[in-house]
Amino acid sequence: MNGDNYKSIPNKLANDDYMTTESLDTSILKNLCREREGFINVDPLQTGGKLYPESKVALQNWGDGYSVCDFCGGRLDQIKNPPIYDFVYCILPKFLEVDIARVTNGAREGIDTVMHSMCSPGDTVVIDKNAHYTTYVALERNHLNVQEVLNSGYPEFKIDPEKYIEAIEEVKKNTGKLPTLTLLTYPDGAYGNLVDAKRVAEISHQYGIPFLVNAAYGIGRMPISVRELGCDFIVGSGHKSMSACGPVGVLGLKKEYEGKILRRSKFYKVKEVELLGCTARGASLITLMASFPYVAERVKNWPEEVKKARWFSGEIENLGLKQLGEKPHNHDLMFVESAKFFEISQTHPKRGYFLHSDLKERGIVGIKPGLTKNFKMSTFMLKEDDLKKVVNAFKEILSKYGV
Ligand SMILES: *Cc1c(COP(=O)(O)O)cnc(C)c1O
Repeated sequence: MNGDNYKSIPNKLANDDYMTTESLDTSILKNLCREREGFINVDPLQTGGKLYPESKVALQNWGDGYSVCDFCGGRLDQIKNPPIYDFVYCILPKFLEVDIARVTNGAREGIDTVMHSMCSPGDTVVIDKNAHYTTYVALERNHLNVQEVLNSGYPEFKIDPEKYIEAIEEVKKNTGKLPTLTLLTYPDGAYGNLVDAKRVAEISHQYGIPFLVNAAYGIGRMPISVRELGCDFIVGSGHKSMSACGPVGVLGLKKEYEGKILRRSKFYKVKEVELLGCTARGASLITLMASFPYVAERVKNWPEEVKKARWFSGEIENLGLKQLGEKPHNHDLMFVESAKFFEISQTHPKRGYFLHSDLKERGIVGIKPGLTKNFKMSTFMLKEDDLKKVVNAFKEILSKYGV
């Protein structure tokens, strides 16, 4: 067996009495290596999803299928050992400052659950133009129509909360009915812009429309309070922003929607229909719990994270790159426009892949291979020294090619 490329899989499996490996086709193991250890990783998808030491141990201990079900009495969220019940019914609602919380399989599953329970096919949902693709796919899956609140366009792509009024009125005019849900992406996953969600909540509620906040890039990075935002539903992503292996997410809702969102099966009285009985049921959930103490603490450091992001934005602008989205920036996720790197790619033998490989040589990963004209990156949880290294790497690369 050749597992050479995958450092953690020993050449001979330890579990000899389970099965001998000689007869197995192990070719797939060659492709299971992952090189990230020791690199500075600026991938926005990954900066908030790194496991803490305790969650790495938890991943090992709970990796077997259905491991959390040892002591299940019929409802996953009510399992006392491991303490899932405490997490779902006490810790999570307190953290989100929300009446009721549930664990989902991800932010998109939470969005889908809310749309599926709150809307009927043919209804219209008002969303921000910066919404994530999963919002659109969830709309399609639920046979819903969309009315977008447009952004301000280049270079800041801001969403004006007041425009939700126009959008709602437009739906009313065109369909004779009000939208059945409003949604805001907070922050959005393209530019990292933060819209005044409180104002969107006010507007929605003036029309009697329930309001969903997609905080996939919010919950676990920055302090988020449902009470403060005034929304009716919120979703978060465990693997995006809460240092869980995933797939896992969180859903928060106001008590008044409990009957709709968490309705029970008529066949299996304890099972919640929208959650298909049980959601995350294994290591994904346990890593979310194991990382939680760190996550709850790190959100208090958010002002420092914003300061770092702004510093970084300023530094790269000094090099002639441009940070799109809100300025000053209020989030670690940023969209970088880099005409100079694009210019280099036009004559470089590696074309657009030169940037990825030049950065990798300097110990930096996380910018999508092939991209030069613009790319997304994140400064979250990165040390100042490491961010300085990233700035210097950009500087070096630019001067190496003389642009
Ligand atoms: C990443 C992301 C999602 C999807 O999150 P999952 O937990 O993987 O479903 C949804 N919305 C936004 C804004 C995102 O950035």
